[in-house]
Amino acid sequence: MESKNIVILGGGVGGLVTARQLAGRLRGKHRIILVDRRDRHLFSPAFLWVMMGWRRPEETGRNLSGLARYGVEFMQAQVEGIDTAERAVRTSAGKVPFDHLVVSLGADVVPEALPGLAEIAHTPYTLAGAEKLRDALTGFRGGRVVVMVSSVPFKCPAAPYETAFLLEAFFRERGIRGKVEMEIITPEPQPMPVAGPVMGEAVKGILAARGIGYRPNTPVSAVNAAEKTLVLKDGGSAGFDLLVAVPPHRPPAVVRDSGLAGETGWVPVDRFTLETKQEGIFAIGDNTTITLSNGKPLPKAGVFAHAEAVTVAETIAARLEGRPSPRRFDGKGYCWVEIGDGRAGFAGGDFYAEPNPVLRLRPPGRMWRMGKVLFEKWWMWKWI
Ligand SMILES: Cc1cc2nc3c(=O)[nH]c(=O)nc-3n(C[C@H](O)[C@H](O)[C@H](O)COP(=O)(O)OP(=O)(O)OC[C@H]3O[C@@H](n4cnc5c(N)ncnc54)[C@H](O)[C@@H]3O)c2cc1C
Repeated sequence: MESKNIVILGGGVGGLVTARQLAGRLRGKHRIILVDRRDRHLFSPAFLWVMMGWRRPEETGRNLSGLARYGVEFMQAQVEGIDTAERAVRTSAGKVPFDHLVVSLGADVVPEALPGLAEIAHTPYTLAGAEKLRDALTGFRGGRVVVMVSSVPFKCPAAPYETAFLLEAFFRERGIRGKVEMEIITPEPQPMPVAGPVMGEAVKGILAARGIGYRPNTPVSAVNAAEKTLVLKDGGSAGFDLLVAVPPHRPPAVVRDSGLAGETGWVPVDRFTLETKQEGIFAIGDNTTITLSNGKPLPKAGVFAHAEAVTVAETIAARLEGRPSPRRFDGKGYCWVEIGDGRAGFAGGDFYAEPNPVLRLRPPGRMWRMGKVLFEKWWMWKWI
């Protein structure tokens, strides 16, 4: 059989799982090349633990060069263009031709897209940001803390709420809770809208019990860093002493310009196979958009990037072997919602259910929190 080139763009959740799954199936018969501008795979859920001082930054990643032991070639390079007609990827290290392509370049986090934000806001959405926020918290003595969602969509719908819960517990443990006022300001109509009203009410209940204010349906148009205020789109304003933001998210430029993207810049894909409109070119994870039966997009979350990667690897392997692939991405997913004090809730279910996703909520407990930690350990051990 002639050897083919399978090129995977991105060494995050989707890219890494695709590479490992394919390597296991193809057993050296074809070339698997993974391209990422970073030399490390990062496990983003642990960024919140870096913020809390529970993980050192170096504990949140693994070197992608370790993929060599599974027969995956790692190329550290910036992806600069995807030429779908020529079937080649342009990178800072040269051109890479492909027979099958998997695009998993994630979502860019762009604080500069909201005026004033980059000047003053902290964010746990990047590793460097989480580290900086951890240091800022050490010196924080009290005041008004605003956790702000800049725009939708953003990765991990639970993360801003988890951030607020963890910070609230942190201030309590520090004995300064009485000197701290907290509020979440977000353009969303409720917490985790795609999960439905029951989930939203459950999260709002915990926010209220913790004394964390909640302002939904409140988009922010700018941040006035000098005056430490948010300029709200409705004409109002909101002050802060410490601003913790989910920055605006954007599709990576190379994805937007690839001809694979739709009007929004994200890549529409077949919801079951993850194939784009170009045969043999698949897109998975945060750089895609999949519209659910309730009209809302499938959330940008690692759990989906992971399951999509397994489907795509199986599909590519089956095509190379000339057989149909029985595997379909089924829209099932789950997430932990950490609420501080060593506890987490858990929600999971079928996001492809009609007419609305069907999810089951588990009340917060120590066991779920332990499950999240065990998942992190498994992830770090399993993939590289
Ligand atoms: C704080 C936080 C907490 C989270 N918690 C959870 C959670 O509990 N559960 C959950 O399911 N999800 C969670 N997520 C979301 C999850 O991390 C993402 O949805 C997931 O990583 C998406 O995988 P991906 O492969 O699409 O993109 P990514 O994992 O972001 O990988 C994209 C890769 O592409 C590379 N790249 C991008 N552009 C280029 C380019 N031009 N050239 C070369 N390389 C490039 C990047 O370096 C990166 O390695 C969290 C995210 C954050 C930020």
